[in-house]
Amino acid sequence: MNCLRRCWAEIDLSAVKYNIEQYRTCLKGGTELLCVVKANCYGHSDKLVVPYLEQLGVKWFAVSNLIEAEHLRALGVDGEIIILGYSPEENADDLIKYNIIQACTEYSYAQKLNENAKTGKVRLHIAIDTGMTRIGLHSGTKADADEIQKIAALENVQVEGMFTHYAVADCADDESCAYTAFQTEKILAVDEELKKRGVALSCVHFLNSAGGIYHSNEKSTLARLGIILYGLYPDPSNPLPFEPKPVMTLKAVISQVKYIEAGTSVGYGRTFTADKRIKLATITAGYADGFPRALSNKGEIIIKGTRCKIVGRICMDQFMCDVSALDNVQAGDVATLFGSDITADDIAKLTGTIGYEIVCGIAERVPRVESRK
Ligand SMILES: *Cc1c(COP(=O)(O)O)cnc(C)c1O
Repeated sequence: MNCLRRCWAEIDLSAVKYNIEQYRTCLKGGTELLCVVKANCYGHSDKLVVPYLEQLGVKWFAVSNLIEAEHLRALGVDGEIIILGYSPEENADDLIKYNIIQACTEYSYAQKLNENAKTGKVRLHIAIDTGMTRIGLHSGTKADADEIQKIAALENVQVEGMFTHYAVADCADDESCAYTAFQTEKILAVDEELKKRGVALSCVHFLNSAGGIYHSNEKSTLARLGIILYGLYPDPSNPLPFEPKPVMTLKAVISQVKYIEAGTSVGYGRTFTADKRIKLATITAGYADGFPRALSNKGEIIIKGTRCKIVGRICMDQFMCDVSALDNVQAGDVATLFGSDITADDIAKLTGTIGYEIVCGIAERVPRVESRK
């Protein structure tokens, strides 16, 4: 069955290519690209995007968990895959089987993986908590180096790298920039200490999307490119040296068009009442598709190039908008809910969140369709 003409997300692979090419020009020295493809490529479909990234020569990928990692292997990915989040220790042999690198938070976790691994060595990148206060070693340069050496001495693990994650790399103010510099110094100090002790890690990485732009550093072996890959801003109030192209365009069709008279209320709760005769269109998408209910009576969508106001509450599967400005609009016409004119970042601003959450929130029931413009 092909049931595409209700609500769907177009995934523009040429935008992926553009964003990567532009981002690469911002990296210094030998910093290599790692594409963060967790959460189904931030909602963009790993099935569509990841094989294309491999075609573009990307060798490193990061996901959040083992299910995502296995899925990439099932898609035929043969690049390196890092799990940035947690894997239960009982899955140690799955990490080995699929040749996945696991983020390691502390010695006791490495010990558990070590005990559970029966079929080989679990590959590890050690997380260093330099100021995000989320995961990783956090006891200072010497103690962290001690802990890494203790982990490296375990028989069934292999320490290949370490990484840290910035808390405010996307912010432009002086205090945030100083904090990011401080985080960088901390991980590099651990690296120096290890080198002094004759331990060399092949991979030390600390740049996220924003880091690679505003704090590019050749000492980071990898730049972990996430949000900019998908054409959105780490922080829309902070400009980028290039304008990223949004990869996802969310579309839906109009199921009905009608005139309503002044005094007619629209939708649940009767939160909108027409003050004059208007032309109303019903759109076949709702919050169950991931189109935020917080856009009720707030947002706009684009029909035939014209911005149309959302009126009334967004329902689970449908919502209404004012199409009075359009002469020739009818059932079956296509509406653009967001994309490059109204972006996911714009919608995020209206709904008090970030673009990341908008695209990640597009529901599984929305088909993702490849497009190359
Ligand atoms: C998600 C994530 C990234 C990517 O962040 P963006 O802001 O999307 O670039 C990088 N590193 C880690 C550890 C992450 O969890």
